[in-house]
Amino acid sequence: MDRLKGKVAIVTGGSQGIGRACAERMAQEGAAIALFDVADTAGQALAAKLANAGNQVRYWHVDVSDEGQVQKAIAAVVAQNGRLDVLVNNAGIAGASKPTHEITEAEWDRVQAINVKGVFFGLKHAIPAMRQAGGGSIINISSIYGIIGAPDVPPYHASKGALRAMTKTDALLYAADGIRVNSVHPGYIWTGMVEGVLRVQGDIAAARKAVDALHPLGHMGEPDDIAWAVVYLASDEAKFVTGAEFVIDGGYTAR
Ligand code: NAP
Repeated sequence: MDRLKGKVAIVTGGSQGIGRACAERMAQEGAAIALFDVADTAGQALAAKLANAGNQVRYWHVDVSDEGQVQKAIAAVVAQNGRLDVLVNNAGIAGASKPTHEITEAEWDRVQAINVKGVFFGLKHAIPAMRQAGGGSIINISSIYGIIGAPDVPPYHASKGALRAMTKTDALLYAADGIRVNSVHPGYIWTGMVEGVLRVQGDIAAARKAVDALHPLGHMGEPDDIAWAVVYLASDEAKFVTGAEFVIDGGYTAR
C-alpha cells in the first residue's frame, strides 16, 4: 500500500497501455504522479480518476521528442513537488514494419526521435534534480526486442537495443549519486500499440492467437505484469538493483 509513499514520479506515455498501469499502481502505492503524454483526453481522464480516488496526480502535455517541452515540464514538476525521485521512460512507438532495405530515413528517424532521443531528454533533465535530491530510480522501458531479433520493425529493434545499453552506461555514471538505472524488457503485452500492429495483418483474432503461442506461458502479458515490476524498481526494496535488465515475457526469450 505505501511502498512508494513520499516519492514523486514521472511516467512518460502514462495516459494509456503499460504507462497507464504503471501510473495507477505507483499512485496506489503512495507516489505523487506526473503523467507526460500526447494523448491528452486519455491522460486528463486518468489524472481526474486517480485524483478523485485521493491520489496526487497531474497530467502534462509533453511530446518526449521535443527537448524544450521535456525540460519545461520536468522543471515544473520539481518546482511543484520540491523533488523528483522516479522517472519511468515508457513513451514509445512501434514504427514502420518493413524490411530494412525498404525503410525511409524519415521512418527510421521518427522511431529514434521518440524511443531513443525522447529517453535521452528525460534522463538529461531529470538526473540533475535526482542528484540534488540525493538519489532516484530511473526505469527505461525497453523490450525483448532490445535483446533478441525478430524479422520485423528494424528501427524499433535498434531503438530498444539502444535503451538497454544506455541503461547500463547511466547506471555506472550515476551510481555514486545514488541514482539507480534499470531496464525492463516486456514480451508482448496487450495494449493499443500491439492491437495496432496486429490489425494491419487483417484477421486480428488469428494474429493474436499466433502471438500468444510465441510465449511459453501460452498468452501475451497484460500491462499490470509490467507495472508491478516498475513499482518494485521504483521502491527502496530495489535499493541494491542497478544496471539490471528485468525480462518479463512469459518465457519468450528463455528458449
Ligand atoms: P501504447 O498503448 O501505444 O501507449 C503509449 C503511450 O505513449 C500512448 O499514450 C501514446 O500516445 C504515448 N506517446 C506516443 N508518442 C509519444 C511522444 N512522442 N511523447 C509522449 N507520449 C507519447 O504503448 P504500450 O504498448 O503501452 O507501450 C509502452 C512502452 O512499452 C513503449 O515504449 C513500448 O515500446 C514498450 N513495449 C511494449 C510492448 C507491448 O507488447 N505492448 C512490449 C515491449 C515493450 P498516442 O497513443 O497518442 O500515440
